[in-house]
Amino acid sequence: MSKLINQPSYSTRPTLRVDLPQIRANYEALKGKVGAAKIGASVKADAYGLGAVAVGKTLYGAGCRIFFVATAGEGKMLRDGVGPNAAIYVLNGPAPRDKGVLLGAKLKPVINSLEQARYWADVARGINEPPYTAIHIDTGMNRLGLSFDDVVELGRDKSLWSALNPEWVMSHLACASDDKNPMNKTQLARFRKAAAQLPLTPLSLANTAGIYLGKPYHFQMVRPGIGLYGGNATTKPGQEVTKPVATLLAPILQVRWVKAGESIGYNASFIAPRDMRVAIVGAGYADGVPVNQSNTGTAILHDEEVKIVGRVSMDLTMIDATDANLSVEVGGVVIFRGKHLEAEAKQSDTINYELLTRLGQRCRRDYWKPKKVETDAPKRDFR
Ligand SMILES: *Cc1c(COP(=O)(O)O)cnc(C)c1O
Repeated sequence: MSKLINQPSYSTRPTLRVDLPQIRANYEALKGKVGAAKIGASVKADAYGLGAVAVGKTLYGAGCRIFFVATAGEGKMLRDGVGPNAAIYVLNGPAPRDKGVLLGAKLKPVINSLEQARYWADVARGINEPPYTAIHIDTGMNRLGLSFDDVVELGRDKSLWSALNPEWVMSHLACASDDKNPMNKTQLARFRKAAAQLPLTPLSLANTAGIYLGKPYHFQMVRPGIGLYGGNATTKPGQEVTKPVATLLAPILQVRWVKAGESIGYNASFIAPRDMRVAIVGAGYADGVPVNQSNTGTAILHDEEVKIVGRVSMDLTMIDATDANLSVEVGGVVIFRGKHLEAEAKQSDTINYELLTRLGQRCRRDYWKPKKVETDAPKRDFR
């Protein structure tokens, strides 16, 4: 009988452990790379799955005052975490259905098209204290953003510009992870040329990977996301200054011996080649362990790599613990994310960003708190 099963801390649910002091350290390390440029933290998708409120508070405590989310709903949640003094930009832009939330939570829409510009200008003209915006220019990614011709038109329309009250002009890099890619310089040149069509406004181009492209890409603000969470952003991870912050810890729920020739899991996709000791672990694809790690992925048990055997199911994953050196017992802990995030991404044919954002919906969250989290008395300044 396992001793661990009687421990009060034993739960059948996985735990997502988020190292908040390391997020702060990552913020400071990135800040060290960009000199005077500001950091606008990308905390969209619930801070890449780690919890936007906890992450936002930590970054705010480290001095961050600018945040980027994707939707108005995310912005409203973050506002509750970071208080009134942080600027929160909504990357996907304004829409009628979000108007109340945008205005109520004093969010700043990113304007991605002339349609959005005209819509939001009409809203802004009708209110006393219109929020600032950011203007997003497309420089070759062909995702969101104004085309060069749109930018020229916006630059000529003084009334539209002043109604929008932009405080940043930004663009987004498509290939920054690879410093050899000529697209980076092309986008940089297009960004400069487009920005020159507009009234002088602070500029922002770089995501995490863009920071590593060097000073010409930093402008007045950089917008890191993945780096804050310790994911590698570039093809040269050796140059990166940040460290992992997230670990998925899953409990061993049962240990069984499987005889040679028996199958394991759905579809009997794994046949035991020998008598095997198998640990049944309480985390599955609903917790962010990708199905395509079935029979191929690995996890960590007592600092040793162990193989996933059989198909990953919704709530459970089986691992081969036959050769584990230390005890394998119910209540023991298996690690699915941690220092090997990039290796796991490769194994499951995806990217570290996706692995992170898939985590956590059902996990217990365990936040490692910095000693002191600063809180500001609410003031009526939303800039
Ligand atoms: C997501 C996003 C970022 C952050 O990118 P990372 O690669 O995570 O650093 C910055 N800017 C925009 C427009 C984004 O959509």
